[in-house]
Amino acid sequence: MKPISNLFGLRIRPIITGAWYNRVNTIPPFDLSEQFKSIGAEINQAVLEVLASGRYIGGAAIEKFETQFAQYIGSEIAIACNSGTDALFLAFRALGIGAGDEVITSPFTFIATAETISAVGATPVFIDIDPNTFNLDLDQIESAITAKTRAIVPVHLFGQPADMTRLMAIANAHNLFVIEDCAQATGAEWAGKRVGSIGQIGCFSFYPTKNLGACGDGGAITTNDPTVAAKLKMLRDHGRYSGYYHEELGVNSRLDAVQAVILQIKLRYLDRWNQQRQAIADRYHSLLAPVPGITTPQSLEGSLSVWNQYTIRVEHDRDQLKRDLQNKGVNTMIYYPLPLHLQPVYKSLGYQLGQLPESDRAANQVLSLPMFPELSHEQQNQVVYSLKDCLG
Ligand SMILES: *Cc1c(COP(=O)(O)O)cnc(C)c1O
Repeated sequence: MKPISNLFGLRIRPIITGAWYNRVNTIPPFDLSEQFKSIGAEINQAVLEVLASGRYIGGAAIEKFETQFAQYIGSEIAIACNSGTDALFLAFRALGIGAGDEVITSPFTFIATAETISAVGATPVFIDIDPNTFNLDLDQIESAITAKTRAIVPVHLFGQPADMTRLMAIANAHNLFVIEDCAQATGAEWAGKRVGSIGQIGCFSFYPTKNLGACGDGGAITTNDPTVAAKLKMLRDHGRYSGYYHEELGVNSRLDAVQAVILQIKLRYLDRWNQQRQAIADRYHSLLAPVPGITTPQSLEGSLSVWNQYTIRVEHDRDQLKRDLQNKGVNTMIYYPLPLHLQPVYKSLGYQLGQLPESDRAANQVLSLPMFPELSHEQQNQVVYSLKDCLG
């Protein structure tokens, strides 16, 4: 909006309308346009090079990204694919998990974690979460293990790593695979190791709002096992090792070259962005921890969270608080309003409300505040003041 007059050298602004005021002061849950402003020139150039090359699927760009990503995670091998969902699906398939098998996981996660277990024909077995971390309650794993259990899928939710030392000990004692759902935790560390390098397989999503996000869909699978890696590559490419000879029913799950070059660029910035997220989380913590009526998230000793989300608990009427904040221009998210064991799609599994009480309680209390590396101090202040205001 232009100033309407310029009297005596003073720029007089028009009377600010409500709508305009709201627009400039609205804080989104995340904002990818700021990131693009900072690295757009680099991305534009790389994308134009791919477009000019005529090589859009497969080739050196994908292999280069896979090598760089494996190195970053600290795994021997990374295999790029089309999404985090495909990464999980391919992981279960590659380990031979299917009909008749059970996989223990969290009900407090995105549907893809369990959906892919079901998609390969196995049954997700939901156990409750630890209220402090929103991750699997490791005390409940052993009583959920049956003769059919093949694997455990920890979800490093909101960027916070699960206690992988204890989880691996339980899995090893019972001869179970561990497939880490690292979709929200690219760069997070447990005991000095990046998540995705600890279990048999790590599954990553490059959905745009994840810590390492493509400009579209993308995913990757990490492993140290060359046999598993070969199987993953075969399944990702229509079940073939080469040519037009197909060993198994596979899928088409490729990362395309445009996304691969974008991810190569973004990977170089990931640590910086994760550090910015950590600084924002620290600042939220110091400003919000003393506020009555909410609980701020904590990091586990020995872990480095990458804060894909900064998720607080609200003691009273979370939904009303969310609406009140929205009226003040602060847009928050609810991850997740209904745990998976109570979703209509899983009705046939027979879980009841109250059976996994911490998951039910979290679903009613969680509120994810605006969190992205470029969130400014001013924006953060507005979130904090608005929150305090709404809570009275
Ligand atoms: C985003 C996400 C996925 C799925 O990733 P897509 O790339 O969107 O398919 C899986 N698990 C969790 C926990 C996620 O947050």
